[in-house]
Amino acid sequence: MATPIGNLGDLSPRALSTLRGADAVLCEDTRVTGAMLARHGVSVTLLPLHEHNEDDQTPRILARLAARERLALVSDAGTPLVSDPGYRLVRAAIAAGLPVGAVPGPNAAVMALTLSGLPPHPFLFQGFLPSKQGPRAAEIARLRAAERAGLDASLILYEAPHRLAETLEALAEGLGGERPAAVAREMTKRFEEVRRGSLASLAAHYAAEPARGEIVIVIGPAPEEAAGEAELDRALRDAQASGLS
Ligand code: SAM
Repeated sequence: MATPIGNLGDLSPRALSTLRGADAVLCEDTRVTGAMLARHGVSVTLLPLHEHNEDDQTPRILARLAARERLALVSDAGTPLVSDPGYRLVRAAIAAGLPVGAVPGPNAAVMALTLSGLPPHPFLFQGFLPSKQGPRAAEIARLRAAERAGLDASLILYEAPHRLAETLEALAEGLGGERPAAVAREMTKRFEEVRRGSLASLAAHYAAEPARGEIVIVIGPAPEEAAGEAELDRALRDAQASGLS
């Protein structure tokens, strides 16, 4: 179930009643979720479930679900599974034929997309790029290759503030500096800000004025000529396959 990404007022009434009615709440960091629950006056058992113990804990959690306990899964913020733990547990519960429900709510990627002014669909959620330069450039090249092959989607990425400028620079280099983009920062919080512009101009801005807080990058689809290149590639492949080239 989803919890706020900054503004505590974004916890839905259904989320609150689900938390109140749970036998236990599975959470990434008991201090973060404990503080959120305390602000809402909810007292419930918290069980840590994070990247490092998800596989170990899964059999125990499945046994509790099979015994008809109601367990709620949350992450530190937003929607679990989205760049957060939970996928392996949900997959195992589905495979075991146990009932799985979701309480929808805040998600930084979708909120940034709605604020970006960029085409909302189709979109590709990439999450975090690798933090090291080489693997990051390789991942960007892979995205560009997918665009050349016909992917025509807005791209959504999460990034840490201290890497924002260099990531924008790498994106400008790999995807094209003119690509329209938006950087959504501190959404739902006091210093919420959305800055829109080309990848090159955003890279220059954040190189000069380092960003703080939590950040989502949205990039508009590749320009028309990418689709043209994809068609050309396809035509070449067809020609090769039919022995014309
Ligand atoms: N599960 C979460 C969701 O539903 O969005 C995302 C968890 S991921 C570990 C955390 C990243 O999400 C942050 O580093 C940032 O990129 C993005 N994020 C979370 N809250 C945000 C906010 N209020 N404003 C901008 N980005 C945010």
